[in-house]
Amino acid sequence: MEQVLQGIGVVSGIGIATIQVLASDLTGELKKYTAGTASAEAGKFTEALQVAGAELLKLKAAALTTGQQHQADIMDAHYTMINDPGLAANIQTKIEQGIAAPQAVLAAAEEFAALFDSLDDSYMRERAADVRDIGRRLARLLLGADQTQYGSKPVVLCAQEIEPSQAAGMPADTVQGIILGLGSTTSHTIIIAKARSIPAVTGLGEAINYIASGTVVIVDGYSGKVILNPTDANLAEYRKRAEAEALHKQQDTQMAALPAVTQSGTKVQLAANIGSPADMEIASKQGAEGVGLFRSEFLFLGREIPPNEEEQFAAYKAVAEQCGQALCVIRTMDIGGDKPLRYLNINKEENPFLGWRAIRISLERPELFLAQLKAILRAGAYGKVAIMLPMIISAVEIAAARQFVEQAKNELIHEGKAFDANMPLGIMIETPAAAVTAWELAAVCDFFSIGTNDLVQYTLAVDRGNPAVSPLYSHFHPAVLRLIDGVVKAGHAHGIWVGMCGEMAGDPLAAPLLTAMGFDELSMSAPAIPRVKEVIRRFDDEQMQQVLKKVLSLKDAAEIRALMAAFVQ
Ligand code: PEP
Ligand code: MG
Repeated sequence: MEQVLQGIGVVSGIGIATIQVLASDLTGELKKYTAGTASAEAGKFTEALQVAGAELLKLKAAALTTGQQHQADIMDAHYTMINDPGLAANIQTKIEQGIAAPQAVLAAAEEFAALFDSLDDSYMRERAADVRDIGRRLARLLLGADQTQYGSKPVVLCAQEIEPSQAAGMPADTVQGIILGLGSTTSHTIIIAKARSIPAVTGLGEAINYIASGTVVIVDGYSGKVILNPTDANLAEYRKRAEAEALHKQQDTQMAALPAVTQSGTKVQLAANIGSPADMEIASKQGAEGVGLFRSEFLFLGREIPPNEEEQFAAYKAVAEQCGQALCVIRTMDIGGDKPLRYLNINKEENPFLGWRAIRISLERPELFLAQLKAILRAGAYGKVAIMLPMIISAVEIAAARQFVEQAKNELIHEGKAFDANMPLGIMIETPAAAVTAWELAAVCDFFSIGTNDLVQYTLAVDRGNPAVSPLYSHFHPAVLRLIDGVVKAGHAHGIWVGMCGEMAGDPLAAPLLTAMGFDELSMSAPAIPRVKEVIRRFDDEQMQQVLKKVLSLKDAAEIRALMAAFVQ
């Protein structure tokens, strides 16, 4: 029977397919599982063990062919763990006691993991996650909820939460939609979905646990509706809407060739935010003029050791070349926050967004920072590249980073490698500290790019990933708008260019305000470019200045948003 769930539409678009539960939380699948006799369960377990072993060997071989030796080693380690006789014996005992195979596997893996958890050595403690991982792999196989295989069949991914590293592997042609229990507009999983135009709905809460793989679903990323087992009438209506949307996309592509200029002739550069060289295809289709934010940390996620200088160089060079004459801004790794890295051994933090992240890690891990800087500098020999530092709060950090840049250059000279000796060094303005001291910071760097995703959360003290407070999270809050306006003025007074690469840059309702403030560049998820461009092209400078003036006199985010909606519609 049709069931309609209401969530928050965070990536617009219509997706129609069957559900694939991507569960680290397997509650829904476990509830539906009917256990057989103990010997039947034992048989299923043995079979799952063989399939999982074969899967791991296949993954290892694939990693070896793509030169990812360390990934291959991990798969090997998982293979050894999964065949651990102690683990298997514990599972068998539980099954003999009448526990269903999937539960037995999860319980035994948890006991095994708890042993690792209790050890002093941080490396050994990390192994607990591996054990839990293989437990889930086996349980998923037993439940028929395999998450790692994407066939050619279109699917809608369903989970409480998807880690950014998992999201990075989603094939955009098969994944037609994403529905999440948690999540928010600016979580990194959603940012990846936006870059690939995958419609998404978040905030579905507990309901997500009761959705089974194979259920037909419509995801309406506009209204936030998720329709399970839709009626024929609803299916027909949404198919029609999906077709109209595809046509719209075609028209958007035509817009790609036109420049982003106002009716008065003022030009704004619209660039793309990317997470990997693979995102460049859609970026150039949408008419992006270069890359305003390459989130380099995505190269570091979902693996067991950091990518070395050569591997990073290959990725940066590929993007720099694809940008042609346009600038490619590479942000040094922004690890931490909602993007933890196991191999950095970041201690569990009470407030990871206020913790050891981004530039703070880079300055304390010179070997990592130098390898990255060298790779970026070398890519500069193949295109126009700039370095951007994340999470800056003071000029001291910029000075420290500059010293590393100088050291990286010296090392490259000694090694006889080509690089851009005049590469610009800019910073993200994403902390209130940086926004308030923009005047001083502008004197010691080459450009600013405002990261509103963090700036909004830090200014308003509203966690960007917490749905409970998401109604309070708004880039139209007067405090945010005034900070942003001040940053543009400070940057321009020092003769440096000012851009924005937070999600606000891709909001068509914000485009007239940002243009009027004088932004030189707006960088966004590529699919947002055509609509923002269309809005910029529609108005003249005077109209936009007037609306900015009015907005800056208002006191409330909702009121400002409503005014902009009326202005842009
Ligand atoms: C931002 O904070 O606005 C930003 C662009 O960086 P990220 O979303 O990766 O934190
Ligand atoms: Mg940020």
